[in-house]
Amino acid sequence: MAENKPAKYSKPLPHLDEENRPWWEALQRHELYIQKCRDCGDVRYYPRAMCTNCLSPRTEWVKCSGRGKVYTFTATYQNNVPGFRESLPYIMAYVELDEGVKMLTNLVDCQPDQVRIDMPVEVVYEDVTPEVTLAKFRPAR
Ligand SMILES: [Zn+2]
Repeated sequence: MAENKPAKYSKPLPHLDEENRPWWEALQRHELYIQKCRDCGDVRYYPRAMCTNCLSPRTEWVKCSGRGKVYTFTATYQNNVPGFRESLPYIMAYVELDEGVKMLTNLVDCQPDQVRIDMPVEVVYEDVTPEVTLAKFRPAR
């Protein structure tokens, strides 16, 4: 099922700042990047100024394949909040990227009863405003 895109995006928008701006700029280009520590090699998501493993501020951005698998998920059938009720039912999931981090995201182009743990998924990009593009995932093709 394709998610209907409202004429005007009515869900809360993220706050862009110096820590996460490269992430959002990559999504605008329809590219998915995560951070990798230059000192210990740990990869991390979401974007942060310091390594969560060794506290190093030395970071590089690594381009992802956009592929992963469903780590866990939940389907929402009831939500009266404007902006969300129009999307029902929707699926929230943790997707484990091939690069080793887990992203909280939405699954699209599938029904809740089609989703399975470990199901292969691939990224899709949803341009919701001129500044903000969201990374969501669909069953891998
Ligand atoms: Zn580190």
